[in-house]
Amino acid sequence: MSEASNLLRLQEIDLELMKSKKTAAALPQRARVEAARAASKKVAGELTKIVGQRKDIEIEINDLAESKEFFSQKMTEIQTGTYNQDFRNAQEMEYNLSLLAKKIEKCDFDTDKLLPQLETVERAEANARALTDKLEREEAAQLDSFKQAMAQITDKVKALATERERIVAALPAKMVADYEAARARFGGLAVETLVGNRPSACRVTLQPSSFTDIRRSGAEVTTCPYCKRILVVSTEGEE
Ligand SMILES: [Zn+2]
Repeated sequence: MSEASNLLRLQEIDLELMKSKKTAAALPQRARVEAARAASKKVAGELTKIVGQRKDIEIEINDLAESKEFFSQKMTEIQTGTYNQDFRNAQEMEYNLSLLAKKIEKCDFDTDKLLPQLETVERAEANARALTDKLEREEAAQLDSFKQAMAQITDKVKALATERERIVAALPAKMVADYEAARARFGGLAVETLVGNRPSACRVTLQPSSFTDIRRSGAEVTTCPYCKRILVVSTEGEE
């Protein structure tokens, strides 16, 4: 390839590399993985609270069952005469039995109030666990997709870098240095081509005298008199 063609290809490669870098930085999977992680963290916090609530209700229900058991035991003892206290009369015994019956009733009443609460909290817990699983799967899928996309970009970047090395080695060092300087100055687009009598990047029509001078010099590569980019006049030296 001629110097002019190599220079143009070098420019193309560098623009491709810039684009790949941007594409990699903007891969949507990155944000989706972050979002799934943030959501998982939030759900984990919720789940901790829900499990705490569930355990509290279970403890209350358990305590009520134990109390009920205790009161029932006392009732049986009174009824079977094994209670460790003698009642002065039947009335007193009846009174105690009715007190215990009321306490048992209260235990049942409180338990009945707690059971729907337990159901609600158990449902919330199941939902939170299902959401956790779903978010984990989402995170894994996005991470996988991200890795695949990055691998594709990396392969492309490696191929371009290899070709770039070959081209840089084929070009005169001075031209490479000029190109690098122009690339830094113009944020990437260092080379332009002459289309008719207009450079492709700055698009300022060359004065007829400049145009004639450039044509007459026979140079394939020169400097744009306006924007000072590297100006590829022709790639006819190709063959
Ligand atoms: Zn120009």
